[in-house]
Amino acid sequence: MSLPVLLLECGICKESVPSGPYLPALYCTPDGKHLALRWTLGWCNSCGHARRVEDWPSMEALDSETATALKVAGEPQDQLQDWMRKKLEDIETYRRLQPLRTTPNHCLACGGTDLLAWSYDNDGVPLATPHKECTGLFRQVEDPDGMRFMLLDESDLFSLDCRDLGRVQNNVAPSTAGFNIDDFWGPDFSSERSF
Ligand SMILES: [Zn+2]
Ligand SMILES: [Zn+2]
Repeated sequence: MSLPVLLLECGICKESVPSGPYLPALYCTPDGKHLALRWTLGWCNSCGHARRVEDWPSMEALDSETATALKVAGEPQDQLQDWMRKKLEDIETYRRLQPLRTTPNHCLACGGTDLLAWSYDNDGVPLATPHKECTGLFRQVEDPDGMRFMLLDESDLFSLDCRDLGRVQNNVAPSTAGFNIDDFWGPDFSSERSF
């Protein structure tokens, strides 16, 4: 499958980053399940590039998402049910993991945490894109090189503290066989196994 590539590009310094397509990103949770990793594009001072960066939700954001989801779910729209159930499950999982997540957001490319957060409007259009010493704004443009081929039916997998765990096949039930839970958590978390 090939897809057109859109870039976000700074009008002044011409730094750019693909706005998509990307492989999905997942966390491997302590019980060996997979959770969609929320990410956005931002600036990583460690890489010196615009990158995919984590967008870990605050408890307030989760509360507000739950309220919105339940409001929609309360309406008789049967076709939304599976999607809604999954969404509420994900929100609940983020909520349970919240106390164990002690690190700031990371760059998905290098793991660095020296990030400059970008802000977007409701349509995902960048409003502020701090980077380097440049005052330019990143805007969406089409990549002159055209298409990117996406042949991999895989996802990027990360530990909860955003260590890169390689890639996994999509739609295959995760297995913890061969893994020790400390592979995901490190010894600091060895007492946190209640879920
Ligand atoms: Zn710039
Ligand atoms: Zn980085």
